[in-house]
Amino acid sequence: MTRTLSGRPKRPGPEAPEMGKAQRRHLRWLLFGQQEGCCFYCGQMMSLSFARRDNIWGNSATLEHLQRKADGGGSGKANVVLACKDCNQRRGNRPVEVYRALRRDGRMT
Ligand SMILES: [Zn+2]
Repeated sequence: MTRTLSGRPKRPGPEAPEMGKAQRRHLRWLLFGQQEGCCFYCGQMMSLSFARRDNIWGNSATLEHLQRKADGGGSGKANVVLACKDCNQRRGNRPVEVYRALRRDGRMT
């Protein structure tokens, strides 16, 4: 296992450094295209506006970490999807499998 300079074990993640604002923005565009503007969880169309005041459709796309950072998930492309604000909020701190299962079973509206 690779170790950081401080000697602590490095968390398993695709890449360690946090993304800058421009990179996050680019990633959102990229994912938005890949997902054809649909939420990863519920499939509803999202808006991709960056300024809060432009967010007239209400359900703006948010970057969602599949594996939570707290669990060692990275912020690279492999670990993020776009989800609508609703799903992002409903998921909260649940692991992604739990949230998807709840949705599948209809226990989550
Ligand atoms: Zn959604």
